[in-house]
Amino acid sequence: MNGETYRRIPLWKDVPLEEWETYRWQMANRVQTVDVLRQIIQLTPSEEAAVTRRSGRFIMAIPPYWAALMDPEDTMCPIRRQAVPVEDEYRLSPNDLIDPLAEDSHMPVPGLVHRYPDRVLLLVVEVCAMYCRFCTRSRVVGTSAGFSKSANIDQAIEYIKTHRKIRDVLISGGDPLTLSDERLDEILGKLRAIPHVEFIRIGTRNPVTLPYRITESFCQVVKKHKPIWMSLHFNHPKEVTPPVKRACNLLADSGIPLGSQTVLLKGINDRPAIMKKLLHELLKIRVRPYYIYQCDPVKGTAHFRTPVSAGIQVIEKLRGHTTGYAVPTFVIDGPGGGGKIPMMPNYVVSVKDGVWVLRNYAGKLFSYKEESNGHGERPRTAEIEPSYALNH
Ligand SMILES: *Cc1c(COP(=O)(O)O)cnc(C)c1O
Ligand code: SF4
Repeated sequence: MNGETYRRIPLWKDVPLEEWETYRWQMANRVQTVDVLRQIIQLTPSEEAAVTRRSGRFIMAIPPYWAALMDPEDTMCPIRRQAVPVEDEYRLSPNDLIDPLAEDSHMPVPGLVHRYPDRVLLLVVEVCAMYCRFCTRSRVVGTSAGFSKSANIDQAIEYIKTHRKIRDVLISGGDPLTLSDERLDEILGKLRAIPHVEFIRIGTRNPVTLPYRITESFCQVVKKHKPIWMSLHFNHPKEVTPPVKRACNLLADSGIPLGSQTVLLKGINDRPAIMKKLLHELLKIRVRPYYIYQCDPVKGTAHFRTPVSAGIQVIEKLRGHTTGYAVPTFVIDGPGGGGKIPMMPNYVVSVKDGVWVLRNYAGKLFSYKEESNGHGERPRTAEIEPSYALNH
């Protein structure tokens, strides 16, 4: 959104731009009720029913910044669909799971998921600026799970200290950037003080859903503990607005490497052309696409899920067809706690006697011949069934 276009919404027409552009004002004025939402978009009966419904719902909160990007008429608007609940959220599929990645059972201490030997996921807060309707952690996000309690965080940090194999800490939540700069400074400082922790990254959607959170003083905090990487979360090219570009610029100029994770969402970004546009926009703002996730089977998200082949098709249309830096890895996070499993189009047509027959992005065949090992033998390679591209 450019400049003061939010003024078209009567509710906010008198808000001074200096105030609009602050994190504090945006958080204090998040859209949380049907009455406010009605002043921004023309609600469908399904949205109206879902927002009004009280029991068992995943909390709704939309920063005015994001709300002003929603199309008031188009119910398929990708910005709107990510933020506004619909009745489908209450339609449960037999595949739905409450904790699809079995994170709760991989927590040695509250808020610390230890799935891979060398790295951990540290959940430091359960609050987000905006609650994405497809959130994988909706079972804890927006609740009072207690991850932000200092006693819990201290216990988690203690665990990291006593497990020397942990070299990588991913700080996530909720959204870590909903904590104050002071609190983040403290947490980063404690992690940095652990000698075997060599890699720290922050997973956040705040630069996308409420970009005014990114300030000079925030960048100073992150710089102080450098090197810190950041994983952002972008799903649609419409999210790359001038304020988001400014935020990413500030971060990149502060020397923070930026990656992006994307959730594959039906009707939002499951068309290769849309995804490609998003990835190109990200490269332009120095954000390196990292992962595309198959939508996890979270309770109440069946309406967002695509076939797995949609993700493979997206990669098929990217790899070789555009800049390699623009191509993320498509993964399925193995339900039950398998971790991220890469999913790829198949480029191997056959392997026999050290000859690999491969197809390239354009469908042409090429052979690569392996060297024999000097004893007249070739390395043993399993024979692979002839296979074909998935674009049938
Ligand atoms: C995603 C994830 C990580 C980090 O995985 P990378 O592939 O290194 O990005 C670590 N722990 C858990 C539990 C995760 O879900
Ligand atoms: S920002 Fe991340 S953790 Fe928060 S609701 Fe969205 S997907 Fe969930």
